[in-house]
Amino acid sequence: MGSMTVANAPTWCTGDVERRAWAVGAEVAAVFADEVDRDARFPVEGVDALRSAGLLAAMVPTELGGEGASLASIAGATRALAAHCSATALVMAMHQIEIWYLILHGHTPGLQGLLRSVATDGVLIANANSEVGLGGEVGRSFCAVERTGDGRFHLEKDVLAVSYGANADALLLTARRDPEAAEGEQVMVGCRPGTFRLDQTTDWNTTGLRGTCSASFKATVDEDEEMIFPTPWGTIGAQCIGATTILLNSVWLGIAEAAATRAHAYVRADARRKIGTTPASAPLLAEVSVTLGEARAIMASTIAAYEAAVGTEDLESASLLLAVRNLKLSVTTLAIEIVSKASLICGLAGYKRDSPYSMDRNLRDVLGGPLMANNSRAAGENAQLLLAMKAI
Ligand SMILES: Cc1cc2nc3c(=O)[nH]c(=O)nc-3n(C[C@H](O)[C@H](O)[C@H](O)COP(=O)(O)OP(=O)(O)OC[C@H]3O[C@@H](n4cnc5c(N)ncnc54)[C@H](O)[C@@H]3O)c2cc1C
Repeated sequence: MGSMTVANAPTWCTGDVERRAWAVGAEVAAVFADEVDRDARFPVEGVDALRSAGLLAAMVPTELGGEGASLASIAGATRALAAHCSATALVMAMHQIEIWYLILHGHTPGLQGLLRSVATDGVLIANANSEVGLGGEVGRSFCAVERTGDGRFHLEKDVLAVSYGANADALLLTARRDPEAAEGEQVMVGCRPGTFRLDQTTDWNTTGLRGTCSASFKATVDEDEEMIFPTPWGTIGAQCIGATTILLNSVWLGIAEAAATRAHAYVRADARRKIGTTPASAPLLAEVSVTLGEARAIMASTIAAYEAAVGTEDLESASLLLAVRNLKLSVTTLAIEIVSKASLICGLAGYKRDSPYSMDRNLRDVLGGPLMANNSRAAGENAQLLLAMKAI
């Protein structure tokens, strides 16, 4: 990937990891993005290019064969990819979320081995936390880990959605810690290649985000007990929600930035055609730049707050949790506003699917942000949290 150009990379894209991601996005993922969207298929070319560029393993600690890249760099890389192909960017985001769970809490030899295999074998990890019948509620599970008495366990789960489930090499998922446990007494388990089956039970034919291929699956797992995370899922989830939110929202921000960039180009082209006059849509572009500034600022401040809290007791503080959910509520809303206004600026040229100013994928993809997972749920949880907080 070293020979790839980083032409047209945005000014914020300065780090090595971010620039490599931009190159993968511009030179590979963008080429197949329309086809991936049309056919609702896995973005195999983009993901292979990420693997070849060392980006799937970039955040894996150096002692396990990775580059030890920061969460901020990986968020930037995700945002860079999203400008070109939402599916490739979301695969990057979700795989890195699994890496983050393993970095913070994968403290068994088996789980460390899984993390190492991302660097040595290019293993792609998916997530199967959601369960049929529970919607977006990941704090409960129906399914349970069944220990078989020989240091191994068996687990069956009806998963609501597993993005790129049919293409994943490994899997992380939640379950009750044993068949007698209450629904909220959950563990997270890791499944190495060859230890699980995913049988697809639904199609994935959506308005946008079509290339994530997030169908429902029946998961069947037979693994070693050392693949059960030693820390309860409640703690893992609370400590990792910041990284999850930062990475997913980097996708929505990247989609919005791409739309704003196209609208900017449209207005500048218009200005060149009518030298001496300000294009009629220029004030709307100025509005877009305000909103984009807001989205970029809340992303930057939340990344800084979360990274500063890692390794301290602040990682589970109410104020950080509030800020993290606000990042989602804010960026998903602002991104839709930015893409809608960018579409208005480009007018018919933006509405056409075959124009260089087309907003087709941006518009459809960005609408997935508020329901992955649902904003009403995040708002409801923050409403509860604020009742208990003494300061806002
Ligand atoms: C593109 C995409 C990829 C995904 N990939 C994965 C994956 O890889 N792995 C995985 O496990 N899951 C994945 N999911 C599933 C995701 O994590 C959620 O489980 C799923 O989006 C929840 O869907 P839902 O709308 O049916 O449920 P809910 O979020 O439960 O929402 C259902 C309805 O209830 C309402 N609602 C819920 N809670 C509240 C509340 N507190 N207050 C008010 N209203 C409320 C919502 O507004 C909504 O109308 C993916 C989802 C999407 C869209």
